[in-house]
This record gives sequence, structure tokens and C-alpha cells, in this order.
Amino acid sequence: MHPYSLLAAAKINLYLEILGDRPDGYHELIMVMQSVALTDQIDLHPNGTQLFRIHCDHPQVPTDQSNLAYRAAQLMATELPQAFAQFGGVDITIHKQIPVGAGLAGGSANAAAVLVGLDLLWNLGLTRSELQALGAHLGSDVPFCIAGGTLLATGRGEALAPLPDVHLWVVLGKYRSLSVSTAWAYQTYRQQFQSSYVWDLSSLETRRQRVHSGTMINAIAHGDNPQIAQLLHNDLERVVLPAHPSVLQLRKVFQEAGALGTMMSGSGPTVFALATSQTQAQQIQQQVQSVLPDPDLQLWVAPTTSTGIQLLASGT
Ligand code: ATP
Repeated sequence: MHPYSLLAAAKINLYLEILGDRPDGYHELIMVMQSVALTDQIDLHPNGTQLFRIHCDHPQVPTDQSNLAYRAAQLMATELPQAFAQFGGVDITIHKQIPVGAGLAGGSANAAAVLVGLDLLWNLGLTRSELQALGAHLGSDVPFCIAGGTLLATGRGEALAPLPDVHLWVVLGKYRSLSVSTAWAYQTYRQQFQSSYVWDLSSLETRRQRVHSGTMINAIAHGDNPQIAQLLHNDLERVVLPAHPSVLQLRKVFQEAGALGTMMSGSGPTVFALATSQTQAQQIQQQVQSVLPDPDLQLWVAPTTSTGIQLLASGT
């Protein structure tokens, strides 16, 4: 059996609206999710044992059973015991580029790559929706990471509908030393804003909010980039920005640097700026660097992509 290498893309949220609480403890969401060509590389090497082993030299990424990539492999072994018995364990090496705890779904992307990679390695021929159904057990973002591109996500984020591709350049900014826990962001939002939830389908407020997401979907359908940038929205900014003034400041500097639009991604603290060209994105990056010359601030420039998981190499 040959090793496989895959690239797993980060995601940003062009739109994230929290409608309310669900009986299962999650939030009911409307999101527009977008893959960005900032990737982790995942190598899968059959190891001739009945064990999965994680290798990653990033200090914030666990290499034990809590790693989402490990949990993805273990799920495949449990759900497909015959294939596991036949092909055995795998060494999983994660080359991290996507910042950790950043609101960019790095862990979910790694899990998605393991599901797709083991399907290939074990010659299973699972469909995308079968892989996504498995991925939903691991986390709400995993089904999106398997598909990639531009998608509308509803429910707790796992119910996906395709949207036309968005073609933009993205500048991502994150302070190295700052991470935000997704659970903290949602819990704090619940505590502070539960009374203003709009999860009553008959209310006027609900209709108003749905029109807003509908306008974003319309802008995407028309490839109207300035309008997409105008309609960027993330409810979680309401709790993360007040708690982290440096993130609010970064967002302002992005805007002043000439971004088409700017927003925090997911639960943050990564902030992104949209640009129409690579040149414009690089100009924004340089401008932000000169206004905030802080070695703790990391910046990346990448285009949007329609690919979630890409097979890089096999049979080497
Ligand atoms: P999301 O946007 O889905 O909420 P995130 O980008 O905020 O995710 P991740 O980078 O996925 O956050 O990491 C969140 C936590 O998960 C980290 O603190 C890390 O300890 C743990 N983790 C487990 N497996 C992984 C993995 N493969 N890559 C990164 N982090 C992982």
C-alpha cells in the first residue's frame, strides 16, 4: 500500500448568524462558508500495525487521541472494521499552516482530509455524502471541509447547500499568542444575547434577518463582489471584539488599508479582508504591516478556492 498526501483548506465565514438554541445544545445557524487556499498537508502512511499515530510539530496541536485527525481515523476503523482489519493502522503526519484555535476550522479540515484519505487508501469508494455523514459525528464544520468551495450551511452548520463559487483574494490576520475557544464564544453569546434570539419563525425580526442572508446569497449568485463585501456579517463579533480590543483594532486597520470588506472569521480571533486581486491583497498586507509592526501579528494572502480536500500525491 502506498502513502497518500492531501491538502486541507481553511474556511472563513462570509456570513454567520445565530438564530437561537437547539434542543440538542447546539445553536441554530445560518452561515455562508468559504474555502481559502491556506492549507495543511496531511500525509497518511500505512504502518503495518493496528494503531493510528499522529505526528505534528505544532506546539498547540495534540498528538494523542484528542486530535481530530485521530478521531476521524478511529471513526473509520469503528464504522468499517473489515477494511481496518485488512489494511491496518496509519501514521498521520500533519504539516500545519492553518493557525490553531483561529476560527478557520483547521482541526475540522484535518479530520476531513483523514476521512477522504482513508477512503482512498482503503479503496472503499464511499460517496461524498457518506463521508460527510461520518464527518458530522466529529464536528459541525467537517462536512463543509470535505466539500469545500462556497456553501450555505444551516442547522448546526452541517446541513449544506451549494452556492456559486466566490472569486476573491483574502488577507488573513491573527495574533500568534491569541486563541479563542469556539465553545467560549458561543456560550458567552448565549449568556448575553439569548433574550434577543430570533428563532421564532413567525416573528418580523426573523423575516428581517432571513432577508439579510438572502441578500448575501443573491449577491453571490450574481458574482457581485462589492455587494458580498458590504454584506459580511458575524454575530460572534458581538462577544469576541469587546473581549479582545486588539482584534477590533486589527479589523479597523484592515478596513482603512482599502479592503473591499472585513470581518472576523467564525469564533475568531482571525480577521480577514477581501480584495479583488492578488496585488490589492498584497498592498493591504503591506499597509497593515506598516501600521501594526508587531512580530506577534501573522498575515497571510490567499485566494478563495472551490476545493476543500485536494489529493496531492499517491503511490510515491
Ligand atoms: P473552528 O473554526 O472549527 O472552531 P478553530 O480554527 O477555532 O476551529 P482549531 O484550529 O480547529 O480551532 O483547534 C481548536 C482546538 O482543537 C485546538 O486548541 C487544539 O488543541 C485542538 N485540536 C485537535 N485536533 C487538532 C488538529 N488536527 N489541528 C488543530 N487543532 C486541533
